[in-house]
Amino acid sequence: MNPLYDRLFGKHADQDTPFLHLMSGETLTHAQFVGQAAQLAHVLVGAGLQPGDRLAAQVDKSPEALALYAACVQAGVIFLPLNPAYTRDELSYFVENSGAKLVVGDPAKADDLRPMVERLGATLMTLAGDGSGTLTEAAADQPEKFDTVARSEDDLAAFLYTSGTTGRSKGAMLTQRNLLSNSDMLADYWKFTADDVLLHALPIFHTHGLFVASNITLLAGGSMIFLPKFDQDAMIAMLPKATAMMGVPTFYTRLLDDPRFNRDLTKGMRLFISGSAPLLAETHQRFEDRTGHRILERYGMTETNMSTSNPYDGERRAGTVGLPLPGVEAKVCDPETGETLPRGEVGVLEVRGDNVFKGYWQMPEKTAAELRDDGFFITGDLATQGPDDYVTIVGRNKDLIISGGYNIYPKEIELVLDDCPGVMESAVIGVPHPDFGETVVAVIVPQKGETPQEAALMQACTDSLAKFKHPRRFITLPELPRNTMGKVQKNALREDYKGLFT
Ligand code: ATP
Ligand code: MG
Repeated sequence: MNPLYDRLFGKHADQDTPFLHLMSGETLTHAQFVGQAAQLAHVLVGAGLQPGDRLAAQVDKSPEALALYAACVQAGVIFLPLNPAYTRDELSYFVENSGAKLVVGDPAKADDLRPMVERLGATLMTLAGDGSGTLTEAAADQPEKFDTVARSEDDLAAFLYTSGTTGRSKGAMLTQRNLLSNSDMLADYWKFTADDVLLHALPIFHTHGLFVASNITLLAGGSMIFLPKFDQDAMIAMLPKATAMMGVPTFYTRLLDDPRFNRDLTKGMRLFISGSAPLLAETHQRFEDRTGHRILERYGMTETNMSTSNPYDGERRAGTVGLPLPGVEAKVCDPETGETLPRGEVGVLEVRGDNVFKGYWQMPEKTAAELRDDGFFITGDLATQGPDDYVTIVGRNKDLIISGGYNIYPKEIELVLDDCPGVMESAVIGVPHPDFGETVVAVIVPQKGETPQEAALMQACTDSLAKFKHPRRFITLPELPRNTMGKVQKNALREDYKGLFT
């Protein structure tokens, strides 16, 4: 028994049904994919990996990279996918922190990486985005069957490192149960079937593209149009062939910027899902006006998989992340005391369920600080929950501004600024201030060709916000700093503007 392997991969072993549609026009069947994974599993064992060992993969997205995930699950090896954008020094942190025995990297970087990998006692193999490299060379003459290593639902399946938006990435230990319970429920909640064709343009080193998108499709038995990355032309070309899409908010804003993106192009689609960062209510509205589809927004994180979602059939409410998912308990708590707050008040969102991870790898203090004894995980996100249970994310606790003893929620100010004529989006941050401790700075991104006037922005704030919330400085930027998952990097903004008042 190896529940994750059996349910996601093993059951497809003899099926000649389509699994991955590639840009080359080729389609990889389920059976071919499972065979490829088995060959890779033989290579892992040949490289000396034992069940419970870690494999770090810093590779471009490809069918082989996804098969490597399947191979790890089949061989009982803990899979640790990493963003290809990380530098060698960043990679060395992950390899050292995880104790990975095998590192799979880009062939073009092999000479640069090898001394570091070997110094840390690991072996280096390579895999390029086109599938070439020492890993697949070694796999080519291996058998297409592999005796699946027995695992239980309590065994670890992956270490997934958080995105590092608020500080150093932490390795979240995820069990088979964490992954399976969530995918099972989401496949059902979002009504995925074997007939679905998911347009997949997300990276597969992150929970969104790997565990939400790929696991759900595998469970349901559907197929994916597997794009190496988000590419506007490819998206436009492939949308008519798809039934569903999962994306980060920037996917949606970029599509809306394209005049080719219209109702006709999306008429065969049944579902658009957004997550990983807040979707502006305005984007939601523009999307509906353009296509007739209402984007379904959900909320989750590396540590918890998905925790809330707007309903499939019920009201998809813009600006909210919907309802706690079946099997997930959610509550909004006082950050100091941990007491549950009355409905409507802002506090820290805590969640509990089979979706919640086992803890941070080798960070017992951090684990103890965020994972309560009763199983509730303190997400670090500020939220409110209405009387009808809908959850609204207000921002991160770490982004809360405390000025002159008052709590200021950046989101409240951002909503006012976003509504001003000529403003495309905004990010409000706290920077050090000699009198107030911190004070409010607003970073504004104007709409194309517009120059919003500071006086007008200030007037909008005066009209709707108490004086202590008013920005003391407006800064205009052509765009906000974002990471690969479309998350605004407020840390970077705070760093850039920390000296404004000191
Ligand atoms: P780190 O924990 O290393 O600072 P991170 O929290 O960005 O990085 P992830 O686990 O990738 O790493 O992201 C989870 C976070 O993404 C959530 O805690 C939340 O802040 C944000 N998020 C995810 N989905 C949504 C959403 N629909 N709306 C608003 N925020 C979201
Ligand atoms: Mg986080």
